[in-house]
Amino acid sequence: MKKQNKPIVLIPSPPPKERPSDFEILLGDIAEIRYVSPSDKQEFEKTLKEAEAMIVWGVTGEEVLSKAPKLKVISRIGVGYDSIDVDACNKYQVYVTITPGVVSNAVAELTIGLMLSLSRKIKMCDEFVRTKWAMPNTFMFPMGSDLAGKILGIIGLGRIGYEVAARAKAFKMNLIYYDKVRNEKAEKKLDLKYVNFEDLLKISDFVTIHVPLTKETTCMIGEKELKLMKKTAYLINTSRGSVINEKALCKALEEGWIAGAGLDVFETEPLPLDSPLIKNENTVLTPHVGTATYETRHLMALSVTNSIREVLSGKVPTNVVPEQRCKVFKK
Ligand code: NAD
Repeated sequence: MKKQNKPIVLIPSPPPKERPSDFEILLGDIAEIRYVSPSDKQEFEKTLKEAEAMIVWGVTGEEVLSKAPKLKVISRIGVGYDSIDVDACNKYQVYVTITPGVVSNAVAELTIGLMLSLSRKIKMCDEFVRTKWAMPNTFMFPMGSDLAGKILGIIGLGRIGYEVAARAKAFKMNLIYYDKVRNEKAEKKLDLKYVNFEDLLKISDFVTIHVPLTKETTCMIGEKELKLMKKTAYLINTSRGSVINEKALCKALEEGWIAGAGLDVFETEPLPLDSPLIKNENTVLTPHVGTATYETRHLMALSVTNSIREVLSGKVPTNVVPEQRCKVFKK
C-alpha cells in the first residue's frame, strides 16, 4: 500500500532538546512537524514550499508568505500578534490564529508579582539579606508600602486586564480602568470604576498596561503621560515594550517623576545590557516571561495544535484573529 504523506507543519526554530515536543505529541497523528531554523536558509525555503501550517513566536510577513504556496495557517503561540503581517496573510489567504484566554492567569500572576516586588522592595530586601543584614550596626532595612487601599489603574480591561483586576480585588485594592470599550458587566462584578485615560494616570498608585500593540497604542505612555502620574506611583508593563516610550520612562525614573517600574517587555528584546533601566534601582525587570509557566505553555500548545487541526480538516479556526473573523479561505 502506498504510504500517505502527512501535511507538513513548519516550526521556524532549531529542534528543541526534549523530543518529542508537545507539538509533535499533540499533532503527530495527522501531521509531520519539521523544526527548521531560518538561519539554514536553503532547508528553510525548501520546507516553506511544502508547509501547510506554521507555528510561530516571532516576526512573519510577506517574505515568508510569498515562498509558501501551500500555507493555510500561521498559528501564533501567544495572544499579541503585532509581529504578524495580517494584511499580507489576507492577501495570501492564510489564517492567523492566537491562543486567547489560556495565557491570562500566568500574565496576571506575573503582573501582581511585579507590583508586590516593587511595593515591598523584594529585590532590595533580598540583596540586604545577602550583603548587609548580619553586618554589625545594621539597623535600617528597606521599608515598603501596602497594596491594600491603594488605587490600581488598569489600561486595557481585556482578558488579562480582567484577571489582574480580579486578583487585585482580593488584595483589597481600589480598582479603576480605562479601555476604548467599556465593560459594565465587569464593573459590577469587580467593583471597577471607568475613568478617562488622563484621570487614570493622575490618580492611580499603580498603573498597569494590558493593551495590544497597535498604531494607536504605540508610545501611548510618553513624557506627557509620565508627568501626569503621581511621584509615588509605579508603572507596570506586561503587554508590549513599545506601548511605552522607553527613553521617556528612563528619564522619568532618573528624575523621580514616578517611583518605579515593573517591566516584562521592552522596546528591544533582549534588553541591551547598557540600558539605563538595568542600572536603575527602582525597576524590577523580567525577560518577557509572562506566559512562561509549564501549565500555561502546555495549554498554549494545545490551543495552537487545535487551531491547526481545525484548518487541516477544512474548518475555519475558532481562534482566528479579529481582523479575519468572517473570512473563509479556500486553499
Ligand atoms: P485582549 O484583546 O483581551 O485585551 C486588550 C484590551 O485592550 C481590550 O479590552 C481592548 O478593548 C483594549 N484596547 C485596545 N486598544 C486600545 C486603546 N487604543 N486604548 C484603550 N484600550 C484599548 O488581550 P489580552 O489577552 O488581555 O492581551 C493583552 C496584551 O498582552 C496582548 O496583546 C499582548 O501584547 C500582551 N501579552 C503579553 C504577554 C507577555 O508574555 N508579557 C503574554 C500575553 C499577552
